Amino acid sequence: MERIKIVLKSGKEQSVKRYHPWIFSGAIKKVYGNPAEGDLVDVYDNKDNFLAVGHYQPSSIAVRILSFENVNPDIEFFRNKILKAVRYRKSTGIIGNPDLNVYRLIHGEGDGLPGLIVDYYNGVAVIQMHSLGFYRIRKEITELLIELLKNQVVAVYDKSEGTIPHMSGVKAVNEYLYGSSDPVIVTENGYKFKIDWTTGQKTGFFIDQRDNRKLLEQFSEGRTVLNMFGYTGGFSVYAMRNAAAVHTVDSSFSAIELANGNIRLNFGDDKRHEAFQVDAFDYLNDIRNRYDLIILDPPAFAKHNNVLANALQGYKRLNMKAIEQIKPGGIIFTFSCSQVVTKENFRKSVFAAAANTGRNVRIIYQMSQPPDHPVNIYHPESEYLKGLVIYVE
Ligand code: SAH
Repeated sequence: MERIKIVLKSGKEQSVKRYHPWIFSGAIKKVYGNPAEGDLVDVYDNKDNFLAVGHYQPSSIAVRILSFENVNPDIEFFRNKILKAVRYRKSTGIIGNPDLNVYRLIHGEGDGLPGLIVDYYNGVAVIQMHSLGFYRIRKEITELLIELLKNQVVAVYDKSEGTIPHMSGVKAVNEYLYGSSDPVIVTENGYKFKIDWTTGQKTGFFIDQRDNRKLLEQFSEGRTVLNMFGYTGGFSVYAMRNAAAVHTVDSSFSAIELANGNIRLNFGDDKRHEAFQVDAFDYLNDIRNRYDLIILDPPAFAKHNNVLANALQGYKRLNMKAIEQIKPGGIIFTFSCSQVVTKENFRKSVFAAAANTGRNVRIIYQMSQPPDHPVNIYHPESEYLKGLVIYVE
């Protein structure tokens, strides 16, 4: 099929020449024809030079680029890309690690496939599409996953209901595209977690915190730990290996049940752990000197740039409450997963929080995302998770 041609305004080719994978609608000078959402389109500069081919979407991000070469993104093209994602994970110690059967297989832009997320849970691949371009070829992607993960896939579940843009008129439903499965138990660094992708947040688990949970283990020995925004209790499970006590806080009842379940799965009926269903900001009003290790891993406070200032205030307020009240010599693991909040902005919020308390604060570690959530160097936006480990005197 003839691909529709899109021409950019003069100067707007610069970011494409630096391999940034998004074309914003404001950069477009002319669209030759009437592309439907999800169609493949060719992008040209103002002097009629080919720049890229990608999926079209009538929104702020108008084209998600699949290739900067003039190729046909057919099945062979996607087979190659997925194969590269598999190989990359083998060579970075993610696939083939006996202590690990939960990982992100495709991380959108980080794997050169903007709009596609695939998480792997011990035999079950959960795919989440953020563009109609990928949604249209979900059957083909499913077949490729089965083929390329040889005998390692019992089911493929599509969880795109909340992520396919509504203007498309396509109503995505969450469903199995291949096989089916009850919730599975996965192993992460030797710990067990029960994952239910049908009811859980995102695709079921926050895989991106794996390395940071491992780091936490180094600091939790003998400490009294508070895991705020605990969800499935990921950080709590790691802390339970050596902490004096671990408290998990989440405002959601199902999160509390998941956390308790995962603690039981690993440690049985261990009285050192307690979980509380309560609002984080309320809970933090009155914890003076009760904890010497606190984890702050809130949901994204800002999903869009226009609420950035509020989000930064939110991080400041949250961190201030924790820094103010933690025991002397305490440690805080603090995170932001908002894509629009940069590392610098997040650090400034924590700085402002610390300054307000007047306590001495040292940064021990700066955290990010693990290798299965790679950052495309040409797409700084893919570095969304940032965190600091701080020591409060
Ligand atoms: N730390 C978790 C992921 C956290 S996701 C992990 O490693 O897996 C964010 C969690 O914050 C969700 O479970 C959500 O229910 C909870 N949450 C959102 N707003 C909250 C609030 N105001 N108080 C307490 N918990 C909240």
